[in-house]
Amino acid sequence: MSDNSNMKQFKYVFGPVPSRRLGYSLGINNIPYKVCSYSCIYCQLGKTIKYSVERKSYSDPESVRKEIEFVIGKEARIDILHLYPMESQH
Ligand code: SF4
Repeated sequence: MSDNSNMKQFKYVFGPVPSRRLGYSLGINNIPYKVCSYSCIYCQLGKTIKYSVERKSYSDPESVRKEIEFVIGKEARIDILHLYPMESQH
């Protein structure tokens, strides 16, 4: 099992976290906290801070790729890459 306690904190990547459904999931969050076109009442992230439907780049793809490759090189097991927004970790 992966131990995240000693893992470097990255800007875009977190985990891997164990998932009964998916195995070891490496999370990738390349969107700033709570930028969304909706504000769903059930959203686990709370109220939307910035509404946007504008298509634009929120992150540098090369930086995201480098973090993913670094973690994949360090971790013994990653079964899936999971793109989703979550609370800011930085
Ligand atoms: S991030 Fe939250 S508010 Fe945005 S679509 Fe998903 S559930 Fe709804």
